[in-house]
Amino acid sequence: MNDTKLYVEDYGIGDGTQLFDMDILSEIPSFIPSPESETMDIARHANVEVQFPYSPVGPPKRNSYPGELNFTVEVNSHDVHKKTFLYSHMLSRIYVDMKCNFSIQFNWDYRISPHMYVRSTVVFSDEPQAEKRVERCVQHCYESSKAGIKPEIAKNVLHSSREMDAQGVYYCGDVDVADSWYSVLVEFHRTSDEPCSHAYQFTCKNSCASGINRRAIAIIFTLEDEYGRVYGRQKVGARVCACPRRDLLKDETAEGKYKTGKKRVPSNEIDPPKTKKIKMEAVTDIDDTVYKLPSLQVVGSRAMLSGLKVMLEMMELAAECRKNNPAALALYQPHIARFKETIQTLEMTRNTTQ
Ligand SMILES: [Zn+2]
Repeated sequence: MNDTKLYVEDYGIGDGTQLFDMDILSEIPSFIPSPESETMDIARHANVEVQFPYSPVGPPKRNSYPGELNFTVEVNSHDVHKKTFLYSHMLSRIYVDMKCNFSIQFNWDYRISPHMYVRSTVVFSDEPQAEKRVERCVQHCYESSKAGIKPEIAKNVLHSSREMDAQGVYYCGDVDVADSWYSVLVEFHRTSDEPCSHAYQFTCKNSCASGINRRAIAIIFTLEDEYGRVYGRQKVGARVCACPRRDLLKDETAEGKYKTGKKRVPSNEIDPPKTKKIKMEAVTDIDDTVYKLPSLQVVGSRAMLSGLKVMLEMMELAAECRKNNPAALALYQPHIARFKETIQTLEMTRNTTQ
């Protein structure tokens, strides 16, 4: 434990060992070598010795935790309504087409650490695929390589929406080291309560043969300092497809039914329980009955807003399926409008009370 204390004090973060638990410390073995290790001195003087940007080696860890800096990730819901990409609150999954920007918001206690980095690493969600590095398909990779793009960028299925050489955006990973994972590292200097956001885009589809090849994927976001030490981790599922709306509807119908009957875990959740795939049921099976909710109390503004957004999303999708039936569509409109109004009011109230 002496080493742990030394480590924390060396970097002058927080007030001693309470800031980190051992799980977090185990994130960064290369920085906390055993006392016998030759690299101990490097760890003590990491300020000058460690190369930036740090490229992690080995399959990324997957457990989510906010950490002491309370790291949270939110998909920017303002853009969702512009239909450029969609987010299923029910499945915690982004639906987006290839080369289409999607914005992610990051929040943490910037008063303690204003200058931080967010690393985004794409992984396969299913356990048997966890050890495999996600790479672009041969064709897309070849096109980029031909255009002279650096190999660690050409191979990464996730790019920043900014130009390749944009300041504060770094592409990590070594093509020649099989255990080196591709990631995008984005630098943030925070000065206000406003969460940071960054737009990304996928450079392959889920269906790209020889690449993702129809396997479920997720993005792991880690909050790090300039030495690659991890302070918090969050993950979001992703599906890159030509028809995000159609696929979201399909998945929410299929997995939503699965969820209500069984366990409340979406199938893209990392390391899901072993289950058989549920056969897709016809999405035309829509219940148009109007239900009145009982008066319920919800703890936490996030739980309240997410719940309402899921209901709104489901109604909007159902309404879209009813677009050829004006009478049925008319039934949805006032309720959708009321939900939007209520969510907006609640969001404004939340922002002013924060
Ligand atoms: Zn591809």
